[in-house]
Amino acid sequence: MQEQDGSPVKPLRRIATEEAFSIPEHFDAIRDLIAAGSQDPDLTLWRHFQGNHRPVFVDNLQDVDFQRLRTMDELGVSMHLLSLTSPGVQMLDADRATGLAELANDRLAEIIARHPTRYAGLASFAPQDPKRAAREMERAINDLKLNGFVLNSHTNGEYLDEPKFRPILEAAEGLGAAIYLHPRTPPKPVADLANKYGLETGMWGYQTDAALHALRMMYGGVFDDFPGLKFVLGHMGEGLPYWAWRLDYWGRNGGRRPPVKRAPSEYLQENFAITTSGMEWTPVLKFCIDTLGADKIMFAIDYPYQEPEPAVRWLDTAEISDEHRAMIYSGNAERIFRIPAE
Ligand code: MN
Repeated sequence: MQEQDGSPVKPLRRIATEEAFSIPEHFDAIRDLIAAGSQDPDLTLWRHFQGNHRPVFVDNLQDVDFQRLRTMDELGVSMHLLSLTSPGVQMLDADRATGLAELANDRLAEIIARHPTRYAGLASFAPQDPKRAAREMERAINDLKLNGFVLNSHTNGEYLDEPKFRPILEAAEGLGAAIYLHPRTPPKPVADLANKYGLETGMWGYQTDAALHALRMMYGGVFDDFPGLKFVLGHMGEGLPYWAWRLDYWGRNGGRRPPVKRAPSEYLQENFAITTSGMEWTPVLKFCIDTLGADKIMFAIDYPYQEPEPAVRWLDTAEISDEHRAMIYSGNAERIFRIPAE
């Protein structure tokens, strides 16, 4: 194909930004938690991952050399931005979590070295030990050349607004690297209220916890103290763009909320970007383009948990401008996650 002036049409580069992988040692650590009788509500899902009836995505999580690449090729997906699958290392004790984060980051760097045009990666860290987390974050960016970080919402029911996590925020801001705030099951008291119908899952509970995390950071003064911080929310912003007007309305009222410099919608605009992971719905996409801007939205599939083919077919044909489509498919991810342009 050619443009009207005779130059070849540049093929659309599709970068998917919330794509999960795992390593055998991660499965081992979770198996040990289950064997030790942990009641973490995230283990409900992982119990299904064990044994002979495990779903196919258990294998898909660990495959980065075969079927994953074939599926990407079939659909014209150029690149997966990989992250260790939720809840990463955040259910483990501090030492094992820190060691596993380092190992997972080393493996991720090896995967990218094997397939430099097909993968980029978000580094894990263990908030259970904030100082060591900050050191690993520096190693992941400066030595391993990874593209940012993944954090799976709360750690033992605590959120990043707690003062003890300041070294993590300082490191992320100093390195200029974004943190993908990936969801997980809410802490047990909240999850217990929802699990009668399985609502603590990706169907509803994940987004309420990730959105709470973002709001706690806003009102904990995180973005006043670290104005350069950038977070990424999946699932079209975990409901926050839709709720922004009401957040601002109540935010102006003060109440029990500490005074902060900006309104929630302003923090959302300044300190956040969002992805389309698992939310393939054009009215919501258009709403987010209108309210946040097309420069704040990135494509994601949520492989292997959601189907890649409908995700690509949807964004290929969504009724938005081709300029916005190209930004959402790759331009924004190249900028936000420092992925070299082709
Ligand atoms: Mn995901």
